Amino acid sequence: MTVPSITLSSGHDIPQLGFGVFLVPPAEAEKAVSEALEVGYRHIDTAAIYGNEEGVGAAIAKSGIAREDLFVTTKLWNDRQAGTGPDDAIRESLDKLGLQYVDLYLTHWPAPKQDTYSHAWSKLIEIRDAGLTRSIGVSNHLPEHLDRIVKDTGEVPAVDQIELHPAYQQADVTAWAAEHGTAIEVWGPLGQGKYPLFENPAVAAAAEAHGVSPAQAVIRWHLQRGFIVFPKSTRKERMAENFDVFGFELSDAEVAAIDAIDPGDGSGRVGAHPLEKH
Ligand code: NAD
Repeated sequence: MTVPSITLSSGHDIPQLGFGVFLVPPAEAEKAVSEALEVGYRHIDTAAIYGNEEGVGAAIAKSGIAREDLFVTTKLWNDRQAGTGPDDAIRESLDKLGLQYVDLYLTHWPAPKQDTYSHAWSKLIEIRDAGLTRSIGVSNHLPEHLDRIVKDTGEVPAVDQIELHPAYQQADVTAWAAEHGTAIEVWGPLGQGKYPLFENPAVAAAAEAHGVSPAQAVIRWHLQRGFIVFPKSTRKERMAENFDVFGFELSDAEVAAIDAIDPGDGSGRVGAHPLEKH
């Protein structure tokens, strides 16, 4: 199965479907990522704060897959944004991953009360220019944060990774991204199992019409909306299910019905709010 790629503004290609490892305990990460690679995933999304970069790296090393055939993302945690923190943090992440470079390095949260995210972004530019990451981007940045880092540095992030699923679509951020050529990566694509997406009539109807699971219908919705998506599961059968989403296509009406799930008032959010996270 060939996963479609999206060409980022950096000129590098990213597989549109990947595997995320948030909350995968360090001891389980190697097994989970090994199984994901066996299923066919070639794009892995981790972060320093997940504490599982070593397990991700061990799975990559054992897989024997050529480095250029993999896309690996990690993220700078909030307490390393200031001073030379980012320089040290990327080297620690690379060391744990056993890699010479990552494909994508992200500022994990703006943590605006610290007021160091713009500095962190300027360091990510240096880190990219030093060859330690191919592309750079941000996560959980709202338009006000995106405007600020572009104003301060002139560099537009290749991606913004945000909470996004049918019940919480963040139209203001996706509009900013579309205008600036920034790709949207989605986290919590299935609502982290906290929002009752799978029982929603629009999701259930689309799933039934195509003979797929509700999770597959939601992942397909993300792909057809043009988002980059990396659902998480530590169960191999679910990894395979979540990867098996290229044999059907939602109709425009099905996409529109799932679009309409968002109540539009922010109440579908399941994770932290960027202005409150430190
Ligand atoms: P998710 O929406 O992918 O939900 C994961 C949960 O959904 C699993 O724990 C499982 O319970 C359930 N699930 C998975 N596949 C299923 C299936 N086929 N059928 C039924 N249930 C299924 O949420 P997530 O893990 O938070 O998000 C995906 C990835 O996004 C993470 O692993 C991580 O890489 C990234 N992430 C980033 C941030 C950030 O701040 N940048 C925050 C959270 C997550």
